Amino acid sequence: MPMREETKSVLKKPVQYVKSVGEARARLFHKLNIYTIEDIITHYPREYEDRSSLKTISQLEHGETCSFRGIIASKISESRPRKGLSIYKVSIKDGSGIITAVWYNRHYIKNIFSIGESYVFYGKIVRKYGSFEVQGAIYEKVDGMADTKNACRIVPVYPSTATLTQNTIRTAIGNALELASNSIEEILPQWIRSHYNLSEISYSMKHIHFPGSEEDFKNARYRLVFEELLLLQLGLLSIKNTIDETKKGISFEAVDEMKSFINGLPFNLTGAQMRVFSEIEKDMESDKVMNRLVQGDVGSGKTIVAVLALFKAIRNGYQGALMVPTEILAEQHYTSIRPLLEKYDIRVELLTGSQTKKQKNEILEKISLGKIDLVIGTHALIEENVKFNRLGLVITDEQHRFGVRQRAILSQKGENTDVIVMTATPIPRTLALILYGDLDISIIDELPPGRKPIETYSVDNSMRERINSFIRKKVAEGRQVYIVCPLVEESETIEAKSASEMAERIAKEDFADLSVGLIHGRMKAKDKEEIMRGFVSGEINILVSTTVIEVGVNVPNATVMVVENSERFGLAQLHQLRGRVGRGEHQSYCILYNQGKSKVSKERMSVMQKTNDGFIISEKDLELRGPGEFFGTRQHGIPDLKIANLYKDMEVLRLSQEVALKILESDALLEKEENLKLKDRIIEKFSNKLNELSLN
Ligand code: ADP
Ligand code: MG
Repeated sequence: MPMREETKSVLKKPVQYVKSVGEARARLFHKLNIYTIEDIITHYPREYEDRSSLKTISQLEHGETCSFRGIIASKISESRPRKGLSIYKVSIKDGSGIITAVWYNRHYIKNIFSIGESYVFYGKIVRKYGSFEVQGAIYEKVDGMADTKNACRIVPVYPSTATLTQNTIRTAIGNALELASNSIEEILPQWIRSHYNLSEISYSMKHIHFPGSEEDFKNARYRLVFEELLLLQLGLLSIKNTIDETKKGISFEAVDEMKSFINGLPFNLTGAQMRVFSEIEKDMESDKVMNRLVQGDVGSGKTIVAVLALFKAIRNGYQGALMVPTEILAEQHYTSIRPLLEKYDIRVELLTGSQTKKQKNEILEKISLGKIDLVIGTHALIEENVKFNRLGLVITDEQHRFGVRQRAILSQKGENTDVIVMTATPIPRTLALILYGDLDISIIDELPPGRKPIETYSVDNSMRERINSFIRKKVAEGRQVYIVCPLVEESETIEAKSASEMAERIAKEDFADLSVGLIHGRMKAKDKEEIMRGFVSGEINILVSTTVIEVGVNVPNATVMVVENSERFGLAQLHQLRGRVGRGEHQSYCILYNQGKSKVSKERMSVMQKTNDGFIISEKDLELRGPGEFFGTRQHGIPDLKIANLYKDMEVLRLSQEVALKILESDALLEKEENLKLKDRIIEKFSNKLNELSLN
């Protein structure tokens, strides 16, 4: 259809195509990841300012943030009280009074205003030495006193960079919308729109940016959120469709020795571990292919549950494979699991990338001949030359570090193997059910007894000396310490010292007399692992790292986790980091250096101090983050969300799942005319997962 081709092409045109966007501005838009017209019109406002009621200057009050209209009454003045500080001032008047507008370091401002021009200003009103100022105001020129584009209504505020002003973005988006108005396609079938009361797409696009009223905004947003979540659900469900549920799996039999194996463990299983294992056993004994996600907070004891399942499979005469994301973790699992199984004459081997060719070949041969029962390894396990004799159960640990594909490749090395994936990324239950539509879910929601809650403190730099002597004291007691310095982007270095500089200083100055291991972001994996080994063995007292410390590493002797610039991490990430300590008998501590001053940042720290529960934290994380920032989504290969918020829009998420199921029920491949546009859009959005979609 030529019509469709053409409409597409307008949306795909580069952003320069928009009136008011030249080459220089385009480059600034690129920094916001805006390259095409489609990108710019889906650059949704972060918030809105209600300018629908304008005040007169005499009505302005100290402390309020509001809009007013006025005429430029003076030339702009510039003063430089000290180096690096320029202050710009201009007087504004209306019939009722006069006020001074003040800007700091906004050098471009001096060429904006001319005496006699009319503007609408929006900003914070402050009373100083008896007269009023409006500080850092945003402004828009108005022709005479006539009504204006933005002045008298709800005005969008966009995510931006320092160099792109709100006015520039607003104007560009207005122009882009005009340009694209005939090209924005309605992809939702009519029945959905009428049944769920969804506004049309062109109305929604316009009013999400420039709503005439709150009602407009609500309608527009509802429709856009609905569409975004519907596409997400359809995409996920299409992936699920590739799993053939009718396929017969292995029916493992009950194993007599299970009981004595469990009784022989060095600890009693928790209730949650037992429950989850019985869910797994049921799956294993049925003739369905098991696809089960085991979720459990850090330290909840997922490994042993995996071992029980492997024991069962192996006792049934099958081989098992346990895949983990790093060599360290593979070694750790190998060291802890082998002794448990060897007692039962089960042969366990390790397979990693750093083994010599000779070692590897030997192991590979044994695997293919069935002389190894359990192989624990890294990505090396999915290499082509790994052939099993009779693979029956595949487990991936720290699943979020693998793609769906890698899991599939491993399980395809056997015939209809059962699959367990384990993850420590707790996400709220309802959300898990929706996001992992293709998996059954078990949750280990209980920690082994006797764990002392980790004491968590949010501190600022004034505490540094005290913290450092606390660290020394702990090291003197024989404990070990993690210090994490988050990587920062170039542009942000003014605030946060460059992470590697900071790490270097900690290693070479603060604790020069102790054994400090340093892990840089740009270090080779092999060198990183070597340092990690030194830490695991206890040779290194303090591990300073500019990257997030390897997931899943278990060093029970480490009892202090220090996180620099913790305001830069998501809550879920902080929780993961904190989970590195508190694994042994000693009281553990988590120290969060926090430079963030905002309310949200304070609230985040208080959540960390109040609870050790990963599920509560993940709920809060969702609540406090904006759309698309949700920690799990990117890792799970789910497309970024531009407008929906998985926490606030949970109800819409549920509705959209309902609709997605309905659609696929009658049209599994989305081949009906009314669904074709939906299909196009899904393929576009999920393009990185294309070969997993059942749609093509
Ligand atoms: P994760 O769920 O984070 O992978 P692990 O499986 O590494 O947790 O277990 C963390 C620690 O808890 C290990 O040292 C393990 O031996 C221990 N552990 C596991 N289950 C129990 C239990 N029921 N009682 C006591 N300790 C346990
Ligand atoms: Mg683990």
